Amino acid sequence: MNDRIESLKQALAGIEWHDDPGLLRSKSKDFHWYSPVLTELLQDKTADLLVQPRDMDELRRVAAACARLRLPVTLRGGGTGNYGQCVPMERGVIIETLRLDAVQVRPGSATVQTGCIIERLEQAARATGQEILMFPSTLTDATIGGFISGGFGGVGSIRHGVLKDPGNVTRIQVMTLEEAPRLIELRDAEIQKVHHAFGTNGIITEMDVKLAPAEDWRHVIALFDDYEAALRFGQAAMRPDLPLRLLTSVERSFAPYYTQYGEYFPESHDAIFAMVAAAGLPAFEALVAQHGGRLSLAMTDAEIAAAQLLPAYECAYNHTTLMALKKDKAWTYMQLAFPQPFSVAQAMALVHEFGHEIYWHHEFSLAYGEYGVFAIPLVSYFDAERLAEIKQLIEAQGVGVFDAHVITIEDGGMKTIDTAQIDFKKIADPHGLMNPGKTRGWLPEYARP
Ligand SMILES: Cc1cc2nc3c(=O)[nH]c(=O)nc-3n(C[C@H](O)[C@H](O)[C@H](O)COP(=O)(O)OP(=O)(O)OC[C@H]3O[C@@H](n4cnc5c(N)ncnc54)[C@H](O)[C@@H]3O)c2cc1C
Repeated sequence: MNDRIESLKQALAGIEWHDDPGLLRSKSKDFHWYSPVLTELLQDKTADLLVQPRDMDELRRVAAACARLRLPVTLRGGGTGNYGQCVPMERGVIIETLRLDAVQVRPGSATVQTGCIIERLEQAARATGQEILMFPSTLTDATIGGFISGGFGGVGSIRHGVLKDPGNVTRIQVMTLEEAPRLIELRDAEIQKVHHAFGTNGIITEMDVKLAPAEDWRHVIALFDDYEAALRFGQAAMRPDLPLRLLTSVERSFAPYYTQYGEYFPESHDAIFAMVAAAGLPAFEALVAQHGGRLSLAMTDAEIAAAQLLPAYECAYNHTTLMALKKDKAWTYMQLAFPQPFSVAQAMALVHEFGHEIYWHHEFSLAYGEYGVFAIPLVSYFDAERLAEIKQLIEAQGVGVFDAHVITIEDGGMKTIDTAQIDFKKIADPHGLMNPGKTRGWLPEYARP
């Protein structure tokens, strides 16, 4: 490997690369440290070289040289993935995409390069009176390419569904990892060949994403006397006529991790965190009142910033885990999907069954054309055996568990091998060099010599 890395450095004349061990260690990590299981499993994994191409031409030279030298390659955007997706299992090269960040906005859509930070894309869309359809709560650090390759949905999904839903991402351009890299265009349903493939089957270079007319969003907190009332409200608020960008119920047990909110989210109440378009606020407030709750906060972006409060979406999705871990390292988390139709009674039974072992927040979302409820609860970590037992107990209730403590696509959310993605890998990564170890569907004999 060392000889091949030295040859790569020669081939990269003029392209920025780094081999400082400290930098390599940090760029070989992502947010897998949420999981004590993955922390142990991945602790020694480090790449040999970090390469930061500035444009498509440099990217093509890096891809060609890595293919020729048969070097393992891990793509890296913002490095905010949770399952060690950016951790190089077999050393080799990290290609960081952050400088490939051009954005072109048109009415109804944008063409954006992979390394564009999602917040920048949102700002570019807003400058034209539009907004992106959805973003992870890591808006300020995650890239659009990393979101497509490693993410699922997030803030905005209550209105527009998830990344996988038709029309949300309409084109993806992929560069192959070959001696003479080619560009392949995937359109509409074809994009599923690379969506959520963890960077195993081609370098995503550019994509077209749909935009919607910009709304005047308010960050909203509604307080309820008990968590069941918050869940019932959430269930009732999953309606197309309520203009929402976020709808999350959060147990009062999270309040100590969100002390910035003070009386807006006191330890005495369970809460709904939402983003509501200004025009829909009266209807939202009336529905809150019908469920026995009251609004404690409704602020614009500017007001939230001036008050030095966190945006509502940082009390949702996986940001809740981050905030809890900042104060108490004993937590980890799980990812669940509740069966349809959502049963508040079933959700409350789990709340009671696990008591202080699990703190709950539920994400209300549209996915695959239907409203559904997901959860990313905090789990008090005892050991891997107890974590596996909790998983089994929850699955026994018919609730889906997307294992967050494994590194392959299949063992996590996907469950089965996606043969279309593997077939595409044979075309886009014929030597089997990309993010090795992250898909069980790729067998060594598939690799072209
Ligand atoms: C606090 C927190 C909250 C989160 N909330 C959400 C959420 O709401 N919804 C959600 O879906 N996820 C969420 N995530 C997970 C993650 O932040 C998102 O999926 C994010 O969009 C990943 O973007 P990134 O640029 O950081 O990707 P990275 O972590 O850099 O990469 C993710 C994967 O994509 C691959 N990749 C990156 N660029 C390319 C490319 N150009 N071509 C091919 N493969 C590539 C990488 O190899 C890796 O496998 C959260 C994570 C954290 C830590």
